Amino acid sequence: MEIFPGLWIIERHGQAYLYREADRFTLVDAGITGIAPKIFDALGAQGGRPEQLHTIILTHHHADHMGGCAELVESTDAQVMAHALEAPVIRGDQQPPEAQITEIERPFHEQAVKATPPAAPARVDRELDDGDEIDLGGGALVVHVPGHTPGSIALYLPAKRVLFTGDAAARLPDDRVIAGVFNVDPAQTRESFCKLAELDFDVACFGHGKPLDKDASRAFRRAAERLG
Ligand SMILES: [Zn+2]
Ligand SMILES: [Zn+2]
Repeated sequence: MEIFPGLWIIERHGQAYLYREADRFTLVDAGITGIAPKIFDALGAQGGRPEQLHTIILTHHHADHMGGCAELVESTDAQVMAHALEAPVIRGDQQPPEAQITEIERPFHEQAVKATPPAAPARVDRELDDGDEIDLGGGALVVHVPGHTPGSIALYLPAKRVLFTGDAAARLPDDRVIAGVFNVDPAQTRESFCKLAELDFDVACFGHGKPLDKDASRAFRRAAERLG
């Protein structure tokens, strides 16, 4: 599905976003293990070839976001980027930190775990930090949003007025925008969400839930007020 010209969501449990600039494609998150054919189909539908997948930016290390990464780099020259705190986990050199699952979250978490095949470790070529700029959409800014995981990032494209939230935020089926769930540090997640609510953007692309294609930062500000 196209969100706006040049930006597509690859819909599958573990959403990935494909961004086209001229003959170069960037993926924000890499979906679950087994997603590669679907990504290549989406590329092909735009007249692209696998070699044109230039960059893969991972918002964090969870298997529903990095699952497809290893298989994608096998057949492309894509450069993989992730926050420096996530990189050792993505590479398989470090155990993932454990999330504090609340009682309310538990049944949903069990469901999500069941739906997510394990992810193969993947290469990380560039380690990111807060404030780094990536050559995407006129300059994409890395926003460190710890809490869901220690090295979670959002990606802010001010020139395009787009925010990729990873799992620092989500959109529920009833359209409400919420701070991320299944967090390593829930208080930090709330702080990070409020940080995102201070940015100015029209379009929000979530790790889970339908993209918001207008007035997105207003929805974030309302949600931040509810957090108190
Ligand atoms: Zn996650
Ligand atoms: Zn997720």
